[in-house]
Parts: sequence; structure tokens; C-alpha cells
Amino acid sequence: MSIQPNEEYILTFLKKLLDTPSPTGFTAHALKLVEQEASSLGVKLSWNQKGGAILEVEGEDGSRTIGLSAHVDTLGAMVRAVKSDGRLRLTRVGGFMLQSIENEYCVIHTRSGKTYTGTILSTHPSVHVYSDAREFKREEENMEVRIDELVESKEDVLKLGIGVGDFVSFDSRAVITDSGFVKSRHIDDKASVAALFGLLESMKRENWKPKHHLKLLISNYEEVGHGAAFIPSDIDELIAVDMGCIGDDLSCKETDVSICAKDSSGPYDYDMTSKLIELAKAEGIPFAVDVYPHYGSDASAALSAGNNIRAALIGPGVHASHAMERTHKTAVFNTSKLLAAYVKA
Ligand SMILES: [Zn+2]
Repeated sequence: MSIQPNEEYILTFLKKLLDTPSPTGFTAHALKLVEQEASSLGVKLSWNQKGGAILEVEGEDGSRTIGLSAHVDTLGAMVRAVKSDGRLRLTRVGGFMLQSIENEYCVIHTRSGKTYTGTILSTHPSVHVYSDAREFKREEENMEVRIDELVESKEDVLKLGIGVGDFVSFDSRAVITDSGFVKSRHIDDKASVAALFGLLESMKRENWKPKHHLKLLISNYEEVGHGAAFIPSDIDELIAVDMGCIGDDLSCKETDVSICAKDSSGPYDYDMTSKLIELAKAEGIPFAVDVYPHYGSDASAALSAGNNIRAALIGPGVHASHAMERTHKTAVFNTSKLLAAYVKA
């Protein structure tokens, strides 16, 4: 029998996550939310050494453990240098086009816990002043943060407590529209974290258990490639739940659950992928099977780290990923539904 995802619960938690900055390497606040939510559902949680969360659910038959993962870390930046004019030079955390963050509001998180706001701009940011403002190459050395403080020198900035190595997060601008779209930065992969919690919430509310033990990894270093490099050794198969790509010759839509057959790291497990396709058909879930040309997941990280597992990849379709992302809420709910069907079978 299909589960009925609690739509309000999933969207409320998703919005909270989207509103909580968590660039890779600075995920403690978002993981605190994960911890609170797990505790409110009565789900056992432990931490791996690098701070990722592992949630455990007992199954009816404890002979096997299935792993599910989603990552709470997102794209972001770090202060690379404090410039002599009081602006900040950045280095990217994760892979994205600089055009996608140009003109975005940001927050600088100092090591002492203070925050300051600013705006990410090109160093030739005005057509009134720079004849090459339009063509000026958007590369790291040509981008900077204008801090919203009265600073004119490097010393002024250092006095605020801002320094090299401070994290910079981008305004997510999270909105859930009346038409059901979730538009925000960092839907990758917070929509999937919310979908995993939708699954856990359904277990509690609809009072059911998965067939086998489950371990859910909420990973915190996916965007730099090693999120799920470590997984508990009793996991024998892992479904990475991460965004589906949209565009070019891909068939996925924002309302679909994407099932990835192959990405840059190679093909995913044949039987798991086939089972996910069959279950999506049986559940009447709109889905797409696609091949991603420029993509690696936490499942790829787990496999290349040498874990003895089979692995698959599914997730909600996300348009303009690693830029101004959008998905539809139905894709998130249906991701919970498909996962439920999988862990019940
Ligand atoms: Zn992702």
C-alpha cells in the first residue's frame, strides 16, 4: 500500500532547511535542524567523524541494512583575501558558474560566530563607470563581496573580525508559490533531505516499518565529492537521493522523480534501478530515466571509496541546478513515496 506523504510537514521542514545557510564545511546549523527533527520523530541519530548524521530505523527483518543518503551541504564560498579597498575576494565551495551568484546577497560568517551581510558583484559592476562592464569576464579574480559596513581598507574589515577562511553563504531566496513550485537556491539537495524526513514522518504517523533495517546518511561534504565516502559497514545497498537534472536531451521534468541510470561515475546498479522503475510504474509516480553527463553523487563517492555495496540514484527533478533552482512540490512528495515503496518491498 502506498504512503500518503504529509505535504505540509515536508514543505515546512524544507523551507526551514532552505532558510538555514549550510555551505560545505559549515553545515552545523542545518544539521542541528536535522537532529531536532529526528528527535521529534523519535528516530535514533548518531554522527560520523566529519559531522554527518546517521539516522537508524529498525526493520521487520534485521538480516540486512539498506542505506539512503541525501546531502545537507550546499554550494557556497569562502573568503580568499581581504582586499586593500575593504572588499573581499572569494574562492568557490562546490562547482558553479560565477554568473549564477553575481549580484546575490550573501552572509559572511566569522569564526567568532558573528555575521555580516554583503553583495557579490563583479569588480566592474556599473555600466555608468566601466565601458567593459557587460563583457567583463566573470572569473574569481574579477568578483568580490561589497560588505554592508563602513569599511574602506583591509584594516577596517579585519577590525570587524572578518578574515581569510570565513564562510560566505548565498541568500537562498526560498519561495513556495501557490502553484506548488519551490524556487530557491540549494534545492540540491535539501529537497531530498526533506523527502527523507517525509518518509520517516510517514512511518511514525501511518505506523509502518520498513522490511529491512534502514540507515539514512544526511551527508555534509557531497558538493566536494566525499560526502558518503564513509558509510556504516552493515549497509549493503545504498540509494543516493539527489536532484534530477533537467534540460538538453534529458526527459525529466520538475514534476518527475528522476531515476538516474548512469552519470559521470558510470552506470548505477542494474537491478536496483530496474526495481525503482517498476515500483514507480506500479505506484503511478511520474518518473524519468535519464543519463547525466556532468554529475556524480554520494553513491559514486561511496563506491569509489571502496564500500562493498550496490547503489542507485533517484531524486526530484530540479531545473537550473547549481543556479536559480526550481522544482515542483509533487516531485518531492513522490520521492518520499517511491522510497517508501522500495523499503517496504
Ligand atoms: Zn546534490
